[in-house]
Amino acid sequence: MKIPTISIPILQIPVEKNIQLFLKREDLIHPQISGNKYWKLFYNINSYLELKPKYPVLVTFGGAYSNHIAAVAALGNEYQTRTLGIIRGEELQHKWPENPTLQRAKDNGMDFQFVTRELYRDKDALTQMIKRLFPEALLIPEGGTNENAVKGVQFMLTEETKSFDYLCTAVGTGGTIAGISKFAEEKQQVLGFKVVDDCSLFERISNLSPKHNFKLIEAHDGKYGKITVENIRFINNFKEKYGIPLDPIYTGKMMKKLFEMIEADEFPAGSKILAFHTGGLQGIAGANELLKKQNRELIDMN
Ligand SMILES: *Cc1c(COP(=O)(O)O)cnc(C)c1O
Repeated sequence: MKIPTISIPILQIPVEKNIQLFLKREDLIHPQISGNKYWKLFYNINSYLELKPKYPVLVTFGGAYSNHIAAVAALGNEYQTRTLGIIRGEELQHKWPENPTLQRAKDNGMDFQFVTRELYRDKDALTQMIKRLFPEALLIPEGGTNENAVKGVQFMLTEETKSFDYLCTAVGTGGTIAGISKFAEEKQQVLGFKVVDDCSLFERISNLSPKHNFKLIEAHDGKYGKITVENIRFINNFKEKYGIPLDPIYTGKMMKKLFEMIEADEFPAGSKILAFHTGGLQGIAGANELLKKQNRELIDMN
């Protein structure tokens, strides 16, 4: 993988407080390997392909709408490397063509192995199985979080990001915030907006970043992946007002919570806040398929 030469825009979002809010459009980095997933895969893939494996295979794990699965499949296509996705949910075996994320991954050449939720949780058994079947494979953990992923996140921080008091990101498995924490400036505070109710997150992040400069804020609605009508309206409003699409699982939840915090004067006057748009827009199509089935409001797509 290369370091993209495009410069990533940092856009101001006007707010009616004595606060400056900006959004860094990391989602624009690559049409399919979007946002933080690009950087999390960067060192993992490069160090693997440098070994010049004879039969290179990228194997990873994910749910049916996973941004990580989408990114790994697109990567395999771009670097002509075989990819295998271990997908949670046996029932998808026959239904995957109805799922936009999996359909696109398949178009990008990914093979699937659908497993029960029970086996999916047993990562040790799965890992052993994969190692037996593909001894040379690169096994990328769920969500892509590992030491190499954290190292890649340094590229989200630049000269321009140094002037901000707060750096904000959505948090799933914690790799992205660990990288931001690790490579932030001394005076910067890092805020992680948790979209998953996972009490092991703080410890996991602390194991990946040596600094105590981060704070976790609840931004989930009880359950990972839950999309409330308030989420949908916030995202549609945001798009109409600022022309920037947000995804319903990560960035939409972060920005909604961040707006609420700004509204409640939780930041000192004069604060300069930078939020990272970590991508995930490929997930909108799949979310809308579900919402349509439930006869609910949809997320604007154009
Ligand atoms: C995966 C993902 C995250 C979370 O990243 P972690 O490193 O797993 O915490 C945030 N935003 C988007 C859009 C993602 O796809």
